[in-house]
Amino acid sequence: MSNNSTFDILKKYIKEKKLRSTPERERILNEVMKLDRHFTAEDLFGILKKRKEKFVLATIYNTLDLFVSAGILTKYRLGAERSYYERAIDKPGHHHLICLDCGNIIEFVADTLSDYELKIAKQNNFHVQNSTHQIFGICNNCQPARPAQRSSGRSGGQEN
Ligand SMILES: [Zn+2]
Ligand SMILES: [Zn+2]
Repeated sequence: MSNNSTFDILKKYIKEKKLRSTPERERILNEVMKLDRHFTAEDLFGILKKRKEKFVLATIYNTLDLFVSAGILTKYRLGAERSYYERAIDKPGHHHLICLDCGNIIEFVADTLSDYELKIAKQNNFHVQNSTHQIFGICNNCQPARPAQRSSGRSGGQEN
């Protein structure tokens, strides 16, 4: 993973779009590139806050969306309000199991589409370039405890 190339992508994008170059964007990008997992704007806000970096949440939202437009991040929507991000660069294609309760995301790799999916694409004369499946449900941690296994109810989603 080369951070330099990511910064180059950002610089090029800013130049192309004739945007103003701001030190905030680079600081946010620097932090984003350290995150190997999916994250929300709020997660990043919390991380920056811990480092005593003062950002308004709206700035973080705007900056993350700019990174998405520049091709640095991928954004996934989780319903109307929640979105999460992950690095788009140096990351092989993969799919997601998403817990609707705690938001835990489990990744899995399956590089081919099923016959059924290919058929749908063909029927619509749709040229597939890549695909990501998002499968929603309730993760192991969030399922009601079975009497024999656990007695204290849910333990929350610590797994990240
Ligand atoms: Zn869960
Ligand atoms: Zn992922």
